[in-house]
Amino acid sequence: MKKILPTSTAGSLPKPSWLAEPEALWSPWKLYNEELKNGKQDALRLSLQEQQQAGIDIVSDGEQTRQHFVTTFIENLNGVDFENRQTVKIRDRYDASVPTVVGPVSRQKSVFVEDAKFLRQQTQQLIKWALPGPMTMVDTLCDNYYKNREKLAWEFAKILNQEAKELEAAGVDIIQFDEPAFNVFFDEVNDWGMACLERAIEGLECETAVHICYGYGIKANTDWKKTLGSEWRQYEDVFPKLQKSNIDIISLECHNSHVPMELLELIRGKKVMVGAIDVANHSIETPEAVADTLRKALQFVDADKLYPCTNCGMAPLSRNVARGKLNALSAGADIIRKELLANA
Ligand SMILES: [Zn+2]
Repeated sequence: MKKILPTSTAGSLPKPSWLAEPEALWSPWKLYNEELKNGKQDALRLSLQEQQQAGIDIVSDGEQTRQHFVTTFIENLNGVDFENRQTVKIRDRYDASVPTVVGPVSRQKSVFVEDAKFLRQQTQQLIKWALPGPMTMVDTLCDNYYKNREKLAWEFAKILNQEAKELEAAGVDIIQFDEPAFNVFFDEVNDWGMACLERAIEGLECETAVHICYGYGIKANTDWKKTLGSEWRQYEDVFPKLQKSNIDIISLECHNSHVPMELLELIRGKKVMVGAIDVANHSIETPEAVADTLRKALQFVDADKLYPCTNCGMAPLSRNVARGKLNALSAGADIIRKELLANA
């Protein structure tokens, strides 16, 4: 019988301190050349093992081979000058040093496919691979060439589709597109964001997911959240469109957030990765707190479509905290599994 409530994470997990400075975003690598290549693979193995020891069902690479979930992908494309970095405001919220688009963008070679093959060799479990979404990509760079977000997003969508098809062929079970920008630019989601996401998944036979969150637990995000009021209804805008889309799974933030749980009703019928771990908080959830969030979500998500998950990536947390949170996620899901089986 298929296990109910399979657990997974939104994506990133902390890197070992010998590979990159811990508890930081865009942390520079500490190794170079061949040592860096081997170090990334070792970190991927460790990250996988930590997920396995915590009992996570759908595992990932923990994003150990990338410096950042968006810019690493962009930097590997033609038409991008990654040495000429510019500081731009991303998601209308915080300054970041990003690569510059200087010509037509294209993919000269696969970006993550070798890493995905390596992960596939290590485990028989279901694996999920995260890619940035087209809209979040155009929002995380400086464009000196297209000067049009929609046009550039469409080019990225085609490139992402090529990469996704190769990831699928490498044995990835779920391909996830990270689109935190969907929570900010509602008009653009309507005008072209959803169409670009559909273009990115065109022709894929594996499952597809989109992750939409309120961001990593960094200060710019927590300050922004303070301005959102007591009820966060951002999802209300995009959920009806996602419900009608071809995306199979929607990954979102629930635990400790001010998202009204009843908004999940708007995506009824989709599989939902319910964020039951707060990544903006260093205290480790109790299994009962995780179970409580899942129990609430079950009012709006059918049990066979509920995937317990984290609110977002855990890259900026310490390894100890992240490990504790993974264990809590598993234990909390287990409480609900037992309740469901007892009532079956
Ligand atoms: Zn996220």
